Amino acid sequence: MTMAASHSYRIWPKDPAAHLFEVRVTVTQPDPDGQVFAMPAWIPGSYMIRDYAKHVVAVRAESDGRDVAVEKLDKSRWRTAETDRELTFTLEIFAHDESVRGAHLDAGHAFFNGTCVFPAVVGQEEVACHVDIAAPDTPFGKGWRVATSMRRNTAAEYDFGGYTASDYAELIDHPVEIGRLSIGEFEVHGIPHAIAIRGKTRVDMARLCHDLQTVCEHHMAFLGAPGDLDRYLFLLNAPGAGYGGLEHRWSSSLICGRDNLPARGDAGVSDEYRVFLGLVSHEYFHLWNVKRMKPAAFTPYDLSRETHTGLLWVYEGITSYYDDLALVRSGMITVESYLELLGQIVTRVIRGSGRRRQSVEESSFDAWTKFYKQDANATNAIVSYYAKGALIALCLDLKLRNETEGRLSLDDMMKEAWKRWGESREGMPEDGFEGLCTDVSGADLEDFFNATVRGTGELPLESLLSSHGVDYRLRRSTGGKDKGGKPSGGNNLPAVWLGASLGTRAGKPVFLSVNNDGPAEQAGVSPGDELVALDGLRIDIEGCEARTRRYRPGDISDLTVFRGDELISMRMKWAEAPTDTCYLVLNEEVDDTVQSRRGDWLGQ
Ligand SMILES: [Zn+2]
Repeated sequence: MTMAASHSYRIWPKDPAAHLFEVRVTVTQPDPDGQVFAMPAWIPGSYMIRDYAKHVVAVRAESDGRDVAVEKLDKSRWRTAETDRELTFTLEIFAHDESVRGAHLDAGHAFFNGTCVFPAVVGQEEVACHVDIAAPDTPFGKGWRVATSMRRNTAAEYDFGGYTASDYAELIDHPVEIGRLSIGEFEVHGIPHAIAIRGKTRVDMARLCHDLQTVCEHHMAFLGAPGDLDRYLFLLNAPGAGYGGLEHRWSSSLICGRDNLPARGDAGVSDEYRVFLGLVSHEYFHLWNVKRMKPAAFTPYDLSRETHTGLLWVYEGITSYYDDLALVRSGMITVESYLELLGQIVTRVIRGSGRRRQSVEESSFDAWTKFYKQDANATNAIVSYYAKGALIALCLDLKLRNETEGRLSLDDMMKEAWKRWGESREGMPEDGFEGLCTDVSGADLEDFFNATVRGTGELPLESLLSSHGVDYRLRRSTGGKDKGGKPSGGNNLPAVWLGASLGTRAGKPVFLSVNNDGPAEQAGVSPGDELVALDGLRIDIEGCEARTRRYRPGDISDLTVFRGDELISMRMKWAEAPTDTCYLVLNEEVDDTVQSRRGDWLGQ
């Protein structure tokens, strides 16, 4: 069979009120034995089976003006009857998922990822795609513009019309936002960049573009512009509240609360804006680390089923390390502000006893069914390859700086890795990153990687940070809102803890998770129990935190819960609260060598 010149896709917001897109694929040379069409089961960057075909509500096929029979093969695939003529396959797709991984359509806007709406023409995935993004019928779509990194063909800038993608993998790597958008543009090393925002933000666009440019320029100076990066677009959905991001080769989709963005006249970087800049930095760094340099297991992606790799800690952990580090190195935030963020990550890791059960390599491998499908036991059973992965990256960076007397760092490993697997687009083998670090540094890192990546012991954070003039301190938590990163600020810290986390369900306090061997578990509390009373007094979450301060280790309390509709009383023995909250402090007493090493690390 000869390859067709291109496939034609057309997507049309057919019925915004019913959240229905109509998608048509026209194939000029279909498989004469019957053409198979397949919807992806997952989207690269989000490692969970989502079965996008489940949102397809109707399909039909036609050729030469006549209907062609369609057979459903399995959950994600269809096969048309035999035809050797041009074939058009039409789908109607329900789109009501506002996340960065989904597709959404209503009277106010349209957003989609290609994975949610475009079926692959099986066997012809390498063929180029023409894409027509059609405007909705009136009265919908007034003032709507189109923002996507997909290459324009006949479409005018930010408009409906013709676009192109070089193959199916590229087609589904360009999310599209359609609606009333605020658009800001800037350049990074001569490459045009833009941000398209949906939502009534009243943002200071000039400042936002300036700040994004600063962060992007920093990353670009680090690893250099990939040869195929001729444009980049941030798509930002800014609702009342929310958080999320997903990386692509020429763009990223972001969600953040509208009031986290700077207003005109705002000075400084608020905690919320710092989180947003960290998100931008993270997704942008991915354009190198995972979108171009990626595990061999993802080369190419098999979107029909889970694809396991033990390397997600490299791709998400190292990216999580560099996202905040870029903010301090580029001068967006102070060293103290950076150390606060780092202290929060340490706190997140050491609060979960799951780090003693699961290694980051296992967490990466099982992301599909564990990290992405967390249950009430997650804190006891799993570790985040993001958070612990970032701390392994930190330890590796500081260790390399120590062992080579400042000659080499993680930066050099990343540059070399980019040369080896990024520029070449060859997949990184499972042992590739560790081998590269050993090769390039000449250091013996086997024990380090065995202990940190495959092991479940504590990381050597205290000594490595101390060798870079940063003191590692632990304290007890002040309560549920305490994320760590700061000293207690003179707060009277509770001496005891429940060993459980509380949340609300229908306005009532419930146990969300229960820590292994903690007082609540030993008393018999189960996740899902509704907390009714403590020592005979009705209690809510704030009340529980306030009351906790009145107990000492060894005190006994009566705990009353509802499990379902059954009232249960139990006796609980309070235990000493753990020192599970970290904050980091600059040591001003260090000698010049340590000070310059710290300066090199933090880019000061
Ligand atoms: Zn990421």
